[in-house]
Amino acid sequence: MIVVGAGLAGLVAAAEVADAGKRVILLEQEPPQSLGGQAWWSFGGLFLVDTPEQRRMGIKDSADLAWQDWLGSAAFDRDEDLWPRRWAEAYVQFAAGEKRSWLRAMGHRVFPVVGWAERGGGPADGHGNSVPRFHITWGTGPGVVEPFARRVQASPWSRSASGTASTPW
Ligand SMILES: Cc1cc2nc3c(=O)[nH]c(=O)nc-3n(C[C@H](O)[C@H](O)[C@H](O)COP(=O)(O)OP(=O)(O)OC[C@H]3O[C@@H](n4cnc5c(N)ncnc54)[C@H](O)[C@@H]3O)c2cc1C
Repeated sequence: MIVVGAGLAGLVAAAEVADAGKRVILLEQEPPQSLGGQAWWSFGGLFLVDTPEQRRMGIKDSADLAWQDWLGSAAFDRDEDLWPRRWAEAYVQFAAGEKRSWLRAMGHRVFPVVGWAERGGGPADGHGNSVPRFHITWGTGPGVVEPFARRVQASPWSRSASGTASTPW
């Protein structure tokens, strides 16, 4: 498989393919120190639903509430919204399910204060997140990139075109 772009999307895809025992070529136009793309520069805020961090702060959340909030913002109402809607449904289930434990198993950690990004109007029947769900990665953007870059670089076939290993975090 060939993955074009070593931003977070490309790194995740390449890591999963490599860990499945398949050979993958990850093509990136930028030099190795740009591994992770925008995610390296990002705040590392992740959408997670019904987490221990939220419960510790007294925030009551659920997959149903998150889906209601998502529908309030996305307003899927056209035929061509079918696949975006299916993707969103799967993503909300992932964010309320295995996303946190999957990341934790790779060493990812979150700051214990949950933020409230994309707040919208506040109520659960309007647009935006009706409760705080913005979980800030410990180490911000580089902390999001690191587990996936590590997995890609640990793959048996890992080498950069220049022959140099690069660990920008
Ligand atoms: C300052 C900042 C803060 C942010 N904060 C957050 C946040 O807190 N929470 C959040 O969820 N999101 C945040 N984001 C957004 C998030 O970082 C991005 O949506 C995400 O990282 C995009 O990942 P990506 O892999 O899809 O794309 P990119 O990171 O853009 O990666 C694409 C890669 O493909 C390469 N590429 C493109 N074309 C080619 C080609 N033809 N050949 C080879 N390589 C190519 C590019 O060089 C790049 O490395 C933030 C973004 C920024 C800039």
